[in-house]
Amino acid sequence: MIRITRSLLAKPALFIFAGIGITLATTGVTAVSLYQMRLDAMAQARDTAQNLVISLQKETERNLDICQLAMRDVVTSMTAPSIGQLTPDARQLIAFSAANNVRELGAIFAADAAGNTVLDSRWAVPPKLNVSDRDFFQVQQQQKAAGLYLSKPFVPRVGNARQPSIALSLRLDDANGHFAGIVAGTLRLSYFHQLFEDSILGAHGTLTLLRTDGTVLMRQPYRRDDIGSTLAGGHSFPPLVQSAHGTYVDVAVLDHIERLYSFRRIGDYPLVVVVGLATEDIYAGWRKRAFAIGIVTAMLDVLIIMLSMMFSGQLRRRLAMERQLQTLAWFDALTGLPNRAQLNKETLRILTDASRNSSQFAILFIDLDRFKRVNDTQGHSAGDEVLSEIARRLRNCIRGEDVIGRLGGDEFLAVLQNCDVHRAAHLAARILQALYQPITVNAKYDTRITLSASIGVSLYPYDGQDADTLLRNADMAMYKAKSTGRNQVHFYAPLYERQAKEQLELEIALQRALQGSALSVAYQPKVDVTGTLHGAEALVRWNDKKLGIVPPDRFIAIAEESGLIAELDAWVLNEACRQLAEWRAEGIDVANISVNVCAADFKRPDYAGFIASTLQAHGLEPADLILEMTERVLFDESADDIRTSLDAIHALGIALSIDDFGTGYSSLSYLHRFPVKELKIDRSFVRGIGADAMAESLAQTVINIGNVLKLSVIAEGVETPGQRDFLHHHGCLMYQGYLYSPPLQPGDFARWAETHRQQTPISESG
Ligand code: C2E
Ligand code: CA
Ligand code: CA
Repeated sequence: MIRITRSLLAKPALFIFAGIGITLATTGVTAVSLYQMRLDAMAQARDTAQNLVISLQKETERNLDICQLAMRDVVTSMTAPSIGQLTPDARQLIAFSAANNVRELGAIFAADAAGNTVLDSRWAVPPKLNVSDRDFFQVQQQQKAAGLYLSKPFVPRVGNARQPSIALSLRLDDANGHFAGIVAGTLRLSYFHQLFEDSILGAHGTLTLLRTDGTVLMRQPYRRDDIGSTLAGGHSFPPLVQSAHGTYVDVAVLDHIERLYSFRRIGDYPLVVVVGLATEDIYAGWRKRAFAIGIVTAMLDVLIIMLSMMFSGQLRRRLAMERQLQTLAWFDALTGLPNRAQLNKETLRILTDASRNSSQFAILFIDLDRFKRVNDTQGHSAGDEVLSEIARRLRNCIRGEDVIGRLGGDEFLAVLQNCDVHRAAHLAARILQALYQPITVNAKYDTRITLSASIGVSLYPYDGQDADTLLRNADMAMYKAKSTGRNQVHFYAPLYERQAKEQLELEIALQRALQGSALSVAYQPKVDVTGTLHGAEALVRWNDKKLGIVPPDRFIAIAEESGLIAELDAWVLNEACRQLAEWRAEGIDVANISVNVCAADFKRPDYAGFIASTLQAHGLEPADLILEMTERVLFDESADDIRTSLDAIHALGIALSIDDFGTGYSSLSYLHRFPVKELKIDRSFVRGIGADAMAESLAQTVINIGNVLKLSVIAEGVETPGQRDFLHHHGCLMYQGYLYSPPLQPGDFARWAETHRQQTPISESG
């Protein structure tokens, strides 16, 4: 857990991501709560509007009730038979006091059936007026039980305050129930203004009192033109008259402002009071708060991002510093090579690997000869230049899996993985050669320095089981090399010293052999189960004047390491082709010739072209040649070059055979990728037949793979009829081995071929 946390903390970008994450989270939370606040503001406005409209409705209803009661007193004084015939003075007095008692009423007056005023609360003698043209008169005249009627707004014709008013009217009936006139009360609309004035409506709020037919009686804020206008056409009008109360949001007909409206019918009166709160006002407070909160959140976010960037920057710098320190701790500053500490670490790693895989590895202790002189005569900066150049050359000498480092001063160490005495000897020789080239220092004066080195070699596991011992022994071997004349390689163990010498001698001798006539080619027949000849494998032979017969297993590896192999194989290829052509010319029928090739061959420039021209030179066809290679070739470091070469060879129509199949990397996928025609069952599997169940099943597997992939399968190293029978029984059709014939010199092969001629074509199914 702690380790996970620590490794997470080691990633600077993580801080920035965390910063962004926190920022997003806070912004999200803020947005959600702002949205909630907005909803709350609307809900609150809804409550406010509804409460306001209820209180207005109650107040108005109560006042209208009072007005009506006062007017009913006057009606009674005009009609009730029990009161008898009152004098006009008495009736005027009743009207006067009734109007006076109700503050809201401007006046109460009565008109007869023709509309002429007969009574007015303000005057003992009513003014001569006719109201038959007024709606409050006409409605009562036409309808028997109209009840209290509220008129449209009008401007009174008499009185000193000619302000817009409405009239409330009641009908008078005579004893027979015929229309006898009206009693009306005038109500100045300004009264409503006073009533509604202190309502808190906000800057764009409205308050409207309207008749259920849509006529606006009063609107706050007051505008003269609004009075008497009608809302009846508006789309939000129907709900106002269809239900007793309600709340909705709408854009106003009169001023086009969006509002939240709440309305209520005033008791049984044909009046509706509507409160409108502008959404702009409702959200004004919210908007201010949202703005403030937004600013604060943004500032916080910026702060968080800045902090996280700061942290990540700091961390990045710290990590970079740590890396730098690590480099200093593990690498040599001058040459960039691993230093002593790193070398120790790497050696331990390689040692662990080697002991696990029971493989070998080599330690080369490299010390420059007379390096002190360079420092003394050319100065230290020239010495540094030399060391850098040496380091560069050393790096070029080794493979990717090997390690080269600087122990200090003019001492270097190479640790070579999977390395036997031959390889170590060869590589050490190459290093000596590479270092011995002149180095130019101090470019201005073109000073050239030539340095040699002494190399001591120790081999795991023979020269030591642990790193210290191996290093000490390599060091001792190096001193031996120095004391016996410098510019040489010395092996710690006398046995290896001898072997290494032999190896170098062999290398030199092989070089000679390639120039002279010590090499020859032997041919081994490839036959079917009846022993009939189907082809031959060409195998190189070396008979050295001094060394005697050297077996290929000893010199092929050396040829590969020293780079002589390509030349050797080229010679064998040409010789085998020449021989095949010669046999054919002599009437000896050999179907084809197999030649062994290795990775280095394919890396030659235009290898396919070389093969084609060799075939042509001897009048052969591509079908006459089979190239045998091991699986290792396909997994070589420069697989791309090899691939290109293989494709070109395939294009020529030359068959490939996989030698020692099953002993190497055994990846089946390459069998599809490369133009393979034949699999060779390795000798070791064939040898195990009858004794080793594992070897038997491997042989069987190779046969199966061949059959499935439609490749021909040939068994090599077949020595007994038992082996042959087992292989034949499991479907292997071709054989090669001492049971039929060892590799033969060309003359012997020709004689053998005579007696094993192909008589009838072999059927594949047999
Ligand atoms: P390889 O290609 O697997 O060749 C088969 C080896 O098995 C040959 O050994 C052959 O003499 C041997 N052999 C054949 N029949 C039997 C048998 O019944 N029993 C036993 N025990 N051995 C048998 P050789 O000629 O010593 O060659 C050894 C290896 O050297 C070859 O193995 C091949 O990898 C390599 N080689 C030989 N000639 C050349 C060449 O011209 N070029 C290259 N690059 N490699 C070559
Ligand atoms: Ca072979
Ligand atoms: Ca083989």
